Amino acid sequence: MGIDRPQSFFIATNNTHKKQELQRIFSNSRIRLPEEAGVSFAFEEIGDSFLENAFGKAKALYKLIKQPVIADDSGLCVKTLNGKPGVYSARFGAEKKKKPLSTSERNIYLLNQMRDKTLRSACFVCCMVLILDDYRFFIAEETLEGEITMSPRGSGGFGYDPVFYLPEQGLTVAELSPRQKDEISHRGKAARAIAAMLDSIKTDV
Ligand code: IMP
Repeated sequence: MGIDRPQSFFIATNNTHKKQELQRIFSNSRIRLPEEAGVSFAFEEIGDSFLENAFGKAKALYKLIKQPVIADDSGLCVKTLNGKPGVYSARFGAEKKKKPLSTSERNIYLLNQMRDKTLRSACFVCCMVLILDDYRFFIAEETLEGEITMSPRGSGGFGYDPVFYLPEQGLTVAELSPRQKDEISHRGKAARAIAAMLDSIKTDV
């Protein structure tokens, strides 16, 4: 039995940046937020890996709406910090300061952790999970390699983009256009891998 490519996917997040990024990549499908299905979606990311969190989110939303769902979990892994902040990227620094930090406070917190470090290599990681129905799911995990800057630069993107430098481009991710980011980003690569899997199953009728 084969299936046609679904016309629309629900995304297991309330992050409109992610919705826009995925909509640009899955341009032939409609990407919808849980609220568009009348569902209020929240998921506590307590897994030890990006895969555990992404799969957990996808399953939780699929259980609620029983329609094709995409979920991703992503973060920044810094080599000299032993892979931190990793799955704690969104909460980094909050445990020390005892309150959630704003994005710019978090970037400054990271730069302070890196003050005496000469080895500055890091990668963004994105694990993406697509659930089509009760028995069919697809997973891709991808990276974008770069370096942590000495100070923030650029105003595009979100999160750690202003402190993530791409030596080949000579720019931070926050200095890329949205399309340039899609072409090289961890999320763009994972989403294209999922899209390729979808294309291959479409012909498998
Ligand atoms: P989550 O996938 O929504 O859990 O993302 C976790 C955190 O990782 C975000 O809040 C950002 O701080 C960071 N992050 C993930 N992807 C990116 C990116 O493309 N640019 C900058 N920061 C990112």
